Amino acid sequence: MHRFSRYCRESGKTIGFVPTMGALHEGHISLVNESTKANDITVVSIFINPAQFSEDEDFERYPRDYGGDIRKLRGLPRLPVDALFMPSVSDIYPDGYKTYVEVRGLSERLCGGFRPGHFTGVATVVLKLFNAVMPVRAYFGLKDYQQCVVIKKMVRDLNLDMEIVTCPTLRDHDGLAKSSRNIYLSAEQRPEAALIYRAMAEAREAVKDGTLKIEDIAPRLQETLLKSEAVTEIQYASAYDPRTLKETTEGKRFLIAVAVKIGTTRLIDNLMVEL
Ligand code: AMP
Repeated sequence: MHRFSRYCRESGKTIGFVPTMGALHEGHISLVNESTKANDITVVSIFINPAQFSEDEDFERYPRDYGGDIRKLRGLPRLPVDALFMPSVSDIYPDGYKTYVEVRGLSERLCGGFRPGHFTGVATVVLKLFNAVMPVRAYFGLKDYQQCVVIKKMVRDLNLDMEIVTCPTLRDHDGLAKSSRNIYLSAEQRPEAALIYRAMAEAREAVKDGTLKIEDIAPRLQETLLKSEAVTEIQYASAYDPRTLKETTEGKRFLIAVAVKIGTTRLIDNLMVEL
């Protein structure tokens, strides 16, 4: 990978990079399309990163469909991707591996409170992938808003000479954000999961038309989400400062973000609100 990237860069080509964990869906493909539009070379990686899963999470059973992923990337109607990078766990974390990247503060908020160590695992693997791929631009989905903020902070703090491009969330027809984990949902749970988007959109409209105060977003979201028996746990659901990720009750621009469990499946989503 390193040799390929160096060759591209020495030939004056720009590399765009889309890191993924595979089980590719239209959300991933939208990032690939952004990259192929803006760069000479597009590299996609598939690596299910054990360092970002804790013991009790779904690393072992995370969906894997390498054959399907390769077919999807080969079959893209627009420009094809130029390289698919699929390192093994021992390529990334050989025996005795000891170095981790910690983005303090931002990593502990929102999902960080429920997934300790998650963003250290993410920042570490993303930096290692950046070092292998040497992109000019890397593409991330706003569905994982906190991930975007953490990676941008790492890029700034470590003086990486590259741009992080964030891309809008692709949704199913009923609003559910596309996610590799949606396949865990049963036929009964799947329609219920659209409630996450509906609850956020409803709160956003109510704040915009002045019938809901920002400080009442959290209780409104709780109320709406708990109407469904499919929602087994609300980890967080409120309004947050988009830069600090701290809960907020004011501002012209803020993020509504939600993490819930539908049965045993943990889903996250968010919407930006601009008043
Ligand atoms: P993952 O394979 O889940 O690690 O996701 C790889 C990249 O795709 C991340 O930057 C995600 O934010 C992005 N992504 C995942 N789902 C979506 C979606 N529904 N819309 C846009 N981007 C997405």
